[in-house]
Amino acid sequence: MNIVFLGPPGAGKGTQAETISNTKGLLHISTGDLLRQAVKDGTSTGVSAKEYMEKGLLVPDDVVLNIIAERISSDDHKHGFVLDGFPRTLVQAKALDETLRNIGERLDVVFYFAVSEDTAIQRLSGRRTCKTCGANYHVQYIPPLKEGICDKCGGQLYQRTDDKPETIAKRLRVYKEQTEGLIDYYKRNKVLKEVKGDWDVDKTYRMITKVLETIPKHHRRHKEESFLGDNSEIYS
Ligand code: AMP
Repeated sequence: MNIVFLGPPGAGKGTQAETISNTKGLLHISTGDLLRQAVKDGTSTGVSAKEYMEKGLLVPDDVVLNIIAERISSDDHKHGFVLDGFPRTLVQAKALDETLRNIGERLDVVFYFAVSEDTAIQRLSGRRTCKTCGANYHVQYIPPLKEGICDKCGGQLYQRTDDKPETIAKRLRVYKEQTEGLIDYYKRNKVLKEVKGDWDVDKTYRMITKVLETIPKHHRRHKEESFLGDNSEIYS
């Protein structure tokens, strides 16, 4: 089963992607995490991505497409994947379609996380992230058991530089200008499903799993099969 999580920064995509990938045995691919790792490792990808990320801008398509093509074409996702934070532009969405077609696969569902701008700002400004494992918390709504320490791995929590107020505003603007149009793109492809990305993480999780139960188990597909497949009408 191949899934995309679409929505503004701060919609809760990362939290749900982590849980769903664990419970369904799917590979969680977060372009944000991959890029942050590349920056940390000082790779050439990281060097080209760093200044865009710090400014709250999108990293150029060719840089992101390189890292994603590698992950998707690898063989470590026999049950499928959850893409979190990708695609973010129409160029990326079309490239994803093509990559999947070339390996005989397709997207089963795109979950659009609908949240108000106020909620997104509140979430991002209170978010704390683990330096070691990347797990996310919120100072008020999802606090760790011990302040500043990750419950999962004991790593140190920090505030991402792009979660500072001035960069948050920029990221939300960039989302509106460059990513929001993908909602219509996937609606037209009849794979879009809207979920309310509210504060009730369990409720959102239940809504997602309910939709996933209606999707037949993922099979590697042959190139000549239609991209949308037979279950596309469920989302029309
Ligand atoms: P995220 O963790 O998904 O909020 O991503 C953090 C930052 O990484 C974004 O603000 C962008 O600068 C960059 N980034 C992540 N995913 C993409 C993408 N698909 N296309 C372009 N830039 C991206």
